Parts: sequence; C-alpha cells; structure tokens
Amino acid sequence: MGERTENEAGEALPPRRILVTGGAGFLGSHLCERLVRDGHDVVSADNYFTGRKDNLAALFGKPRFEALRHDVTFPLYVEVDEIYNLACPASPVHYQFDPVQTTKTSVVGAINMLGLAKRTKAKVLQASTSEVYGDPDVHPQTEEYRGNVNPLGPRACYDEGKRCAETLFFDYHRQHATRIKVVRIFNTYGPRMHPSDGRVVSNFIIQALRGEDVTIYGDGSQTRAFCYVDDMIEGFVRMMQTPEGTTGPVNLGNPHEITVRELAERIIALAGRRARIVHRPLPADDPMQRCPDIGLARRLLGWEPAVPLELGLERTLSYFDRFLTGAAHERAQG
Ligand code: NAD
Ligand code: UDP
Repeated sequence: MGERTENEAGEALPPRRILVTGGAGFLGSHLCERLVRDGHDVVSADNYFTGRKDNLAALFGKPRFEALRHDVTFPLYVEVDEIYNLACPASPVHYQFDPVQTTKTSVVGAINMLGLAKRTKAKVLQASTSEVYGDPDVHPQTEEYRGNVNPLGPRACYDEGKRCAETLFFDYHRQHATRIKVVRIFNTYGPRMHPSDGRVVSNFIIQALRGEDVTIYGDGSQTRAFCYVDDMIEGFVRMMQTPEGTTGPVNLGNPHEITVRELAERIIALAGRRARIVHRPLPADDPMQRCPDIGLARRLLGWEPAVPLELGLERTLSYFDRFLTGAAHERAQG
C-alpha cells in the first residue's frame, strides 16, 4: 500500500507537529518512523513501562524527532496539530501487572490528551481495541455491536478502561467540538512486539525458535485474526486524514480468521525447528472467537490489509531470530 501524504484532492499536505503517546512501544515506534518518513515533526511521550528506547533507535539523532519520558496520567503541555493516543500496555500479562494503573492510563490519559487537543485544537486519534467487544456473541464484530464485557474480571481494567476512554472521546466531541478519531484495533503483530508480553504470536515464535514446547491455552479452537503492523499503521494514518466530522469508531484488523492451533502449526513449520505443542489452561474471560468486520474501514478509508499472514510471520520470525541471537551474544559477553 502506498504512503498518503496528500489530501482528498491530491494536494501535498504541509508537515505537521505530531504527538505519539506510547511512541516507544510496538505500534507507537512503527508509527513514529512512518510519520518522520512522511516529513512531520514527531514527539514521542512514553513512560517506558512496556516500551523500549531500542525501538526508537532508528529515530534518535533525526532533527524531526524528539522523545519525552512522560506518563500520560499527568498533563502534558506541548503545541501540536495531531495526537495519536497509544499509551497503554496492550498485552494481558502487562495490563494485569498493575490493573489500577492500567485503568488510570486509559481514563486519565484520555482526559489529559483530550484536554491537550481541546487547548491546541489538535485532532486526536484514540487507539481503542477489539476488547471493547469482550467475548463477543456477534460474529464477525461490526462497530454497532455493543459488546459482552465482564466488568469484574481480570481483563476489565483494560476493556472497561478503553470503553470509558471511548466515552470520553465522544463526550469531548459533543461538549467541546474536539476533533476526534477512534479506531478499534484487532490483534496486530510484527517486529518489536515485546518478547515477554505473552502474546500469542511472539510466544509461539520465541518458543519455536528455541525448540521449546509451544504452549496452546485451552484446546486451541479459539480464533483470532492477525494484522501485520505495516497495514495497521497505514490504517491509523488514513483515519487521521479523514474529513472533519468523521469520528469512527472504525474497526482496523485483518479479517482472515484462524484458530490458535493452526497458528501454532504454521509457526512451527516456518521456524523449521523441533518443537512440540503442549496445552495449558485457558485464561479467565479469554474470548473464544474474534474477527473484525472491516466493511466500514474499506468504505471510509479505502483500506484493507495487504500483507498475508505467511509473509508477516516470516518477517516477524526473522526479527525475533536476530533479537534472540543478539541477546545470546550479549549474555556471552557478560
Ligand atoms: P505496547 O505495550 O508495545 O505499547 C504501549 C506503550 O505505551 C509502551 O511504550 C508503554 O511504555 C507506553 N505506556 C504505557 N503506559 C503509559 C503511561 N501511563 N504513560 C505513557 N506511556 C505509557 O503495546 P502496543 O501493542 O504497541 O499497543 C499500542 C496501543 O494499541 C495500546 O493503546 C493498545 O491498547 C492498542 N492496541 C494494540 C493491539 C495490538 O494487537 N498490538 C490491539 C488492540 C489495541
Ligand atoms: N494464547 C495461547 N498461547 C500463548 C499465548 C496466548 O494459546 O502462549 C492464546 C490466548 O489464550 C488467546 C489467543 O492465544 O486465546 C490470543 O492471545 P493474545 O494474548 O495474543 O491476545 P488476546 O487474547 O488479547 O487476543
């Protein structure tokens, strides 16, 4: 998919000052790179809870890029034209580590970023999630579906935090005419996923590369649909460029649904190492089926994923192969 640095009429867009919260994370770092490449001035604000400076290595030293250590639960005073609000741990292992902080990050973080957008009149995009649908009983999930979330369970700090953030976005829009954009992200994978965040793609790849047991939770019949990171970033950028008044929410994800068992088998085959599948208990409130309906994204953004699962997995696998070799080398050096 080509880069879009022009408006609907095909005119070149002037460089903008853009804040990316969670800029040192998996998606945030890819987004910062893309925006700098497009000629914008980019500020990352991150508290490095799950993000890493290494993720931004290619950007340090570039005059158009700046990294701030900042926690979004505190106000931030910068002058910007656009805000991508991505700050929030995204994997169950990390968001359940300090659930109170997770809710605060989503809710207070949203209030702070919306307040900043209100003051600067910036456009603000919220990285929401398919988790707002909970364990869905409508399939595939359209934006109209209101979800089936357990508000008391271990995933609630994330799911309800993100739901409340969406509420805040729409209230700021109605009450203060804040220029909002909301995307609901479905499972996304690629290079720079955190190696120990416990997400299925990174877990399976690391286990398979090490020739360890590949851990399927439950019987592996639960489904997910996996979107490659470059496709997701293209969706973010297109959503930010939509006309005034286009708020979303818009689902972004890859509608190609597979079972967790099938994913494990494919990754083991790609890694080409001896690794066997073992089963572990299914975590509480783990959704059994998840797949986006991306009809709205197709119509509104002219967007759909372009990277097939096989290619995306190969790229991710070679990233983790290099990452593990580098880590082993560092250990050997002491
Ligand atoms: P990630 O954990 O790699 O990135 C999140 C970033 O936010 C990290 O750099 C972390 O240090 C930072 N952060 C966390 N709390 C913060 C705080 N209080 N203040 C400042 N920074 C803070 O996760 P990701 O996969 O890159 O996810 C980015 C966003 O996309 C998140 O909001 C997540 O909820 C959303 N999302 C991701 C997926 C996915 O599959 N990757 C799916 C749905 C939604
Ligand atoms: N999963 C698994 N083995 C793992 C990690 C995850 O079987 O080592 C399963 C998990 O139970 C879920 C699916 O893979 O059914 C996707 O999990 P992930 O944490 O990546 O994302 P989410 O549950 O948020 O979709």
